[in-house]
Amino acid sequence: MFTPSRRHFALGLMAATMTAGTGLAILPKDRLAVVGGGPAGAHAALALRAAHPKATVLLLERDPTRLGRGLDAAPARFDRPGAGVSLDTLRRAGVEVVLDDVTQIDWTAARLALFSGRRLAFDRLFVAPGTAPRPESIAGLDAMARHASPAAWGTPHEARRLTAQLAALRDNGHVVLRLPPRGQSHPQAALDRALTLARLLAIRRTAARLTVLDESTDNRLATIFAQQAADQRLAGQTAWLTAQDGALVRAVDVRRGWIETDAGRLTADVVNFIPPLQAGAIARSADLTDASGWCPCTATGHSTHCTEAVILGDARKGAVRTLAAALESARV
Ligand SMILES: Cc1cc2nc3c(=O)[nH]c(=O)nc-3n(C[C@H](O)[C@H](O)[C@H](O)COP(=O)(O)OP(=O)(O)OC[C@H]3O[C@@H](n4cnc5c(N)ncnc54)[C@H](O)[C@@H]3O)c2cc1C
Repeated sequence: MFTPSRRHFALGLMAATMTAGTGLAILPKDRLAVVGGGPAGAHAALALRAAHPKATVLLLERDPTRLGRGLDAAPARFDRPGAGVSLDTLRRAGVEVVLDDVTQIDWTAARLALFSGRRLAFDRLFVAPGTAPRPESIAGLDAMARHASPAAWGTPHEARRLTAQLAALRDNGHVVLRLPPRGQSHPQAALDRALTLARLLAIRRTAARLTVLDESTDNRLATIFAQQAADQRLAGQTAWLTAQDGALVRAVDVRRGWIETDAGRLTADVVNFIPPLQAGAIARSADLTDASGWCPCTATGHSTHCTEAVILGDARKGAVRTLAAALESARV
């Protein structure tokens, strides 16, 4: 748990006194920094700028491509949606966009350390770093295995690799989709991924099969998938296993195309292996997460670990992890 410095305490007390009841303690000339330019961070930066015209609003994003697409532009297949706000829109609104990686948050000095070596001061910090893979120990799941079995869960080059592997699939091939437990993923996006793969096989490889290894302990996604797949006449080619059916992956051997599960060994031609997720790395290194790997916070996003931080978007503990929920957190 972060203990604020005397300067922070005085500032916080003064600001809180001034804006008691608003839920957000911001002074007119504060430097408001938003870490992460996904949908939550980018929209929060715009909203902060509009609400506090005299404040300086900084948005720090390490991946410039995130700010390239509008919300209405459909993402490429297997890619995630863009931020929904372009760099131009942000800059025109007066948001200072810094394209850099925040490597450290120094709460005592109220400074952000950037990959480029710069250090930036802040008075209020909004943290919207999204998700990152959670380490897991599965025999054989090394860097080579991850390369060969792309998650395509937020990285465009993996999305392209998965697309190429599917294009090269033999007629009666076998595709395996591994989904992590529901609390450690984007459930709606996971369901969409299963439907997208099933649809692709139904159109292009009618003799091919899809197996979904869903490590959830309930069959909620399986039930929705079954309904939607039946409506779209996709059901025949897909087997959906949950943890109760033995979906847990114990080992992989990418050279042989083997996946060892509690239900036995599968042989796959294409494996879309989605890792369990947790809050982005900067949230963890800044001590904003708990043992779950997510950031505990109040309904208005105030971190319960650090009184100085507001958490936005997917990184929040218990978040729904959809675009709509990310935008709603920015609005709040
Ligand atoms: C493959 C996929 C498909 C999806 N499809 C849908 C869909 O169709 N509909 C839907 O509603 N939801 C979908 N989602 C979920 C949706 O994308 C997320 O809920 C939403 O993007 C969350 O927004 P966010 O801003 O919290 O996090 P993110 O979108 O993850 O953005 C976080 C940003 O922070 C940046 N960042 C992280 N750490 C740092 C740092 N240290 N310094 C600087 N920048 C940093 C990252 O580069 C990233 O741009 C999908 C997700 C995935 C993975």
